[in-house]
Amino acid sequence: MGIAAPVVKSNANNSWARIPSRHIYYYRSSQHNDRWILSFAFIFESSDPVQFAYCIPYTYGQMQSWLNELESRKYTFFHRDLLIHTVQKRRVDLITIDGSSDTFQGSKKMIFLTARVHPGESPSSHVMHGIIEFLVSKDDRAQKLRKVYCFKIIPMLNPDGVYLGNYRCSLMGHDLNRMWRGPSEWAHPSIYAVKSLLTQYDNNPQAQTVIYVDLHAHSQKPNCFLYGNVSVTAVSLLFLFKKLFKNQKKFPFPVEEKSTSRQLWLPQLLSELSEDYSLEFTQFNTDVEKAGTGRRTMGELLSCLCYTLEVSFFSYRHVDSSGNGIQHCTPYLQYKYEALGEAFCRALLNFYEADCGIREVLLERPFKTFLPARAQKSLKKQARKMIQTVMIK
Ligand SMILES: [Zn+2]
Repeated sequence: MGIAAPVVKSNANNSWARIPSRHIYYYRSSQHNDRWILSFAFIFESSDPVQFAYCIPYTYGQMQSWLNELESRKYTFFHRDLLIHTVQKRRVDLITIDGSSDTFQGSKKMIFLTARVHPGESPSSHVMHGIIEFLVSKDDRAQKLRKVYCFKIIPMLNPDGVYLGNYRCSLMGHDLNRMWRGPSEWAHPSIYAVKSLLTQYDNNPQAQTVIYVDLHAHSQKPNCFLYGNVSVTAVSLLFLFKKLFKNQKKFPFPVEEKSTSRQLWLPQLLSELSEDYSLEFTQFNTDVEKAGTGRRTMGELLSCLCYTLEVSFFSYRHVDSSGNGIQHCTPYLQYKYEALGEAFCRALLNFYEADCGIREVLLERPFKTFLPARAQKSLKKQARKMIQTVMIK
């Protein structure tokens, strides 16, 4: 991958820039237990202050000012509510973007988005910024999206952690993205409130949550990619049908299409719209270390598709348009994170059209190739067990 490059901002240049990789040096230091040390060269051109950061910042205050500004634009389709206060009494905002007048009259399709449960992952806020700015824009596709979906957005799940400058934890030192199974109302109020809200919508016959995505940033992998869930029941059914019809060349039921390939639509559609989206890193897993995350917990509780969107802190690899297969590594800048937000919204519109049967999604690879090898093994084991139990009964 591209080198992990810090960002810099000076008075002369008022936006964050990446320090060029040729000015960055990584080496192992015997004085620090052989750990990696980063050093970089930078020329100070004046005595004006210069700021350096691990990634492009996005603070709680910045978000509050922006939300105030959005409110002042007086959009009829934009609402900002206080969902709950954090332990240190900061706002957890709930944004609703809905362009149809008949909210909850009939069955309203909803998209639920959250970000910044991990406070250090500021790139996710820039993507969320791009998403919201696109959704409130005059763009034809944004107007259509507002008509077909009601968006419920929590742009910052961990404002205390963001304010305090924590990398991964809340005020009380908890990783809130491992608390979804049993959140405490007083220690993890945002998770408690969002989980209740999502469950409430799921139980409301007039609201249909179609997709829930939690936005994160990744420190080790380049590009942007989605993590999804694996339904053991769906995979078991697939194995069962394959077993029953093993002598037939063509599989008689479109079980795979129905139960698993719809999960691939969003990754596929996003990969078609954004050069930084990687199908290679897209994965559907049941990893033990991810238990208690928003995606896994809500994926088990809700009937909708649940994903984690990851975007690199640093850079993305992509093949250039010359057609000769040359791969480039481009550092992420703020505009590119925001552009990813816009591409994500456009992929949602295409997903809607695919759901309505007016667009076909051509999948490049079958679902099973998105499962890590160990997940395939353990799923087969679980599926066999389930099939045996069903057969015995
Ligand atoms: Zn994260």
